[in-house]
Amino acid sequence: MFTRKQFIVKSSAALSVLAIPNFLFSLTKDLNMKEKDLFEVLIIGGSYSGLSAGLALARARRKVLIIDSNQPCNRQTPYSHNFLTQDGTKPAEIASIAKTQLEKYDTVQFKDDVADSATVTDYGFEVKTQTGKIFYTKKLIMATGLRDLLPAIPGLKESWGISVIHCPYCHGYEFNDQATSIIANGSTGVGLVKLISNWSKQITLFTDGPSTLTADEMVLLQRKRIEIVETKIQALEHQNGMISRVLLSDGSSKDCRAVYMRPPVEQHSDIPLRLGAEFTAQGLLKVAESRLTTVPNLYACGDNSSHRSVASAVFTGSLAGSMVNASLIDAEFI
Ligand SMILES: Cc1cc2nc3c(=O)[nH]c(=O)nc-3n(C[C@H](O)[C@H](O)[C@H](O)COP(=O)(O)OP(=O)(O)OC[C@H]3O[C@@H](n4cnc5c(N)ncnc54)[C@H](O)[C@@H]3O)c2cc1C
Repeated sequence: MFTRKQFIVKSSAALSVLAIPNFLFSLTKDLNMKEKDLFEVLIIGGSYSGLSAGLALARARRKVLIIDSNQPCNRQTPYSHNFLTQDGTKPAEIASIAKTQLEKYDTVQFKDDVADSATVTDYGFEVKTQTGKIFYTKKLIMATGLRDLLPAIPGLKESWGISVIHCPYCHGYEFNDQATSIIANGSTGVGLVKLISNWSKQITLFTDGPSTLTADEMVLLQRKRIEIVETKIQALEHQNGMISRVLLSDGSSKDCRAVYMRPPVEQHSDIPLRLGAEFTAQGLLKVAESRLTTVPNLYACGDNSSHRSVASAVFTGSLAGSMVNASLIDAEFI
């Protein structure tokens, strides 16, 4: 096994033949690896959680590769909120500042690509990308996020993250006291109405088909003067993502400025599934406090395994980075 010292590459000059110990040559030859493709930590996903993990590892002088396909879940949102020092900043700008700061650490490399597969090897993992590159790593961090599965309602996709929103802490303040629609049913609908009533009292609940509300829930919502509409939704009328009306299948419509909904989600990457990782009932990766998944040496951070917010992604990413480093130290300091 390699020691940490042997892996620290302080500059591209250090990649020279002299910097590589003999045993590494034989190992890379045996395993058909190239030294430049060997990493101590490989992070799949280079958005907030991946960059945060990368920063902790860069500062721990680890040789790190971050592979990213640049499809963060909030890419259509004009401004991100509720993250300290960056309230109201464009989502891409937050990531760009982080990346610029990380680029100063010369043990960190970036690759724009899609990680297609990972297999367990004696060394750790072998990761293959869509462009045919193969990388080897001792530890693998999944910072791959979630994908929102938006219902096929015309106008919804175009307005997602602009005026069709999932989280009031992220975007609710911008629609304070506006006519607000909620698309949800049953106890989820009641929960969402209760939460959103903090931001607006003008709420209509669209169940988009027959209601599954209980009699008690109906009474509660009626007492709170929440209109309940069971007619199927035909489309959302909008201009550049700013909603003006919910159009219904019976030809009627309802004016509103914001729509809340919680679409189902799926893991952005199926690599952990294929590696045999376990998931929670909500479809998140099961992780220990250290962010270690149920697969040895496979860690996870960000939306794929925790509460959904930029702050949480940054926190869990940073934690994953330091825990991976601690685990590498444990293996070396014997
Ligand atoms: C519409 C919307 C608006 C939001 N607004 C806010 C807000 O205002 N404030 C807030 O705090 N939170 C907001 N959130 C939540 C916030 O965006 C997420 O919590 C955060 O982006 C999670 O970061 P992440 O790094 O875990 O995942 P993501 O930011 O989703 O990034 C995952 C990255 O992994 C990459 N990736 C995935 N699979 C692979 C692969 N196989 N190979 C290579 N790369 C891969 C993706 O391309 C992507 O770049 C919003 C979410 C949505 C959906």
